[in-house]
Amino acid sequence: MAGHQQAVWNDPESDGYEPLLAEKDRTTVDVEYDGLPEDLTRDSISLPALSEPEAARHYTRLSQMNYGIDSGPYPLGSCTMKYNPKFTEDIAARASAAVHPDRLEESVQGTLQLYAELQDYLGRIGGMDAVTLQPPAGAAGEFTGILVAAAYHERNGEGDERTEVIVPASAHGTNFASAAMAGYDVVELPATDDGRVDLEALSSAVGSETAALMLTNPNTLGLFERDIEEIADIVHDAGGLLYYDGANLNALLGHARPGDMGFDIMHYNVHKTFATPHGGGGPGAGPIGVTEELAPFLPSPQVRQGSDGYELFEPSESIGKVHGAMGNWLVLLKTHAYIRRLGDEGLEDASAKAVLNANYLASQIDLEVPFGPFHHEFVASAGDLDAADFAKCMLDFGVHPPTTKWPEIVPEALMTEPTEAESKRSLDRLAAAFDAVADDEDALESAPERTSARYIDQTSAARTPRLSWHALSDTE
Ligand SMILES: *Cc1c(COP(=O)(O)O)cnc(C)c1O
Repeated sequence: MAGHQQAVWNDPESDGYEPLLAEKDRTTVDVEYDGLPEDLTRDSISLPALSEPEAARHYTRLSQMNYGIDSGPYPLGSCTMKYNPKFTEDIAARASAAVHPDRLEESVQGTLQLYAELQDYLGRIGGMDAVTLQPPAGAAGEFTGILVAAAYHERNGEGDERTEVIVPASAHGTNFASAAMAGYDVVELPATDDGRVDLEALSSAVGSETAALMLTNPNTLGLFERDIEEIADIVHDAGGLLYYDGANLNALLGHARPGDMGFDIMHYNVHKTFATPHGGGGPGAGPIGVTEELAPFLPSPQVRQGSDGYELFEPSESIGKVHGAMGNWLVLLKTHAYIRRLGDEGLEDASAKAVLNANYLASQIDLEVPFGPFHHEFVASAGDLDAADFAKCMLDFGVHPPTTKWPEIVPEALMTEPTEAESKRSLDRLAAAFDAVADDEDALESAPERTSARYIDQTSAARTPRLSWHALSDTE
C-alpha cells in the first residue's frame, strides 16, 4: 500500500531537527525596573530575535513534523481521539466567552446559565441527579468521586470501617491511583475467560470493608457487562457504592445510562465523549455526576437557578473545592456547544456509528481479535510480534497506531477505537495498514523509517522527561 513520509527539516545548525525559537537568533534587551527588590531584578534579558515569517515558518514546520487528529485517523483505544469540530473553537474564542472568575453573579448571568444547562445536560445523558463541572480531567473526576464516596461513608459513621476500593484488573491505571490517593486499599478483581467481571470473585471480594467498586461499561475490551444489574446489587447489598469510569461513554450516548444501571457516581471525560481537545497537560475537564443522596457532598460552588436568576451555592456537606474558579470554563463551553449542536438524535447517532465503525474495522483485519461482539472499541492481538514494534511500524503507513499492551488479558494487545468520525474509506486504509504490517515482519526491525522522529525510547521519555529548553540545556 502507499506509504507516507513525514516532514524532516535538515537544519545544519541543529542536528537535523527544527531548532527551538530560543536557539535561533537571540538579542539582548536592556530592561529597567522601578520599585522592585534589587535581588529579584536583572539589567538585561536575552530574547529570540525573529521576524514574523521566521516565527510562522517555525510553527508550520513543527506542525508538518507532527501527527494529530487533523492529519489522519487516530484509533487510540480507550483514549477516544474524537475529531474536534472547529465551530466550538470559534465559540470559545469570542471575546464574550472571556469572563473573569471573580465577577459578581448578577453580571455573569449568561455564563452561569450555560453552567447550569451543562450540569443538566450531563445529568440527563448519564442518568445522574446532580453534576459538578469543577474537576479538570477524568482522573481528577475519579479522585473527586472517591472523595465524595469517602465523605458519604464518613457521614454514615462507617468511614473507619470501609477501607477498600475494588478495581477490575483490566481497569485504567488512574482508577488504582485515584483510590490509593484517597487513602483506600485497592483490591484487584480478576476477569472471567470471556473478559467480563467475575461475579463469584466479586461476591467474595465485597463486604463491610468495601467503600466502592470502580467499573467502566463497556469495559476496556469494548465488551458490555451484561450482569451489571446483578453487580450493582452485590455492591449495594454490602453497603458499597458503584463508581462509573466514563471513558467509554461514547459507546452509550442516547442508548443506555450509567445511572439506570445502578451507578451512584460517574465522571465524564468531555475530551473523549464530547469532542473537546485532549488536554495533553493543558486545560481539560472531567465533570462528575452523582445520585441525589450524594449531591450534598459535591464540591463547592455549585450553580442553580434561584428566584432572582442563577446563583452560586455551597452544597450542605461539600468536600470543598477541587479546582480554581468553577472548572476550566472554555473547555466546558465547547462541551456545551457540541451537545447543543448534535442534540439528542445526533448524540445517539454518533454512538451508533462509533460502534458500527469498531465492529467493521475488527471484521476487516487479518489479526486475531478475541472476544466480541464489541461496542466502540476492540482489542486485537499482535500474536508473536511485539505490539509496540507493530505500532511503530504502522506509523510508516501514515496512520496513528492503536493503544498497545493493554489490557493485559489479550497478549500483545492492540486496543483500537476508530470513533464515529471516520469514513469507510478511512477505515479501509486503517485495515490495510494493520494487514501490511502483519505481512511484513522484516519491516518491524527498522521501523519507523518515514517519520520525522525514529524509534523513541518511550520508557526514558516517560520516566526522565526533559520538558523545557532549560532542562535540556542544563543537562548537556
Ligand atoms: C482516559 C481514561 C481515564 C483518565 O482520564 P483523563 O481525562 O485522561 O484523566 C480513566 N479511565 C479510562 C478507562 C480512560 O481511558
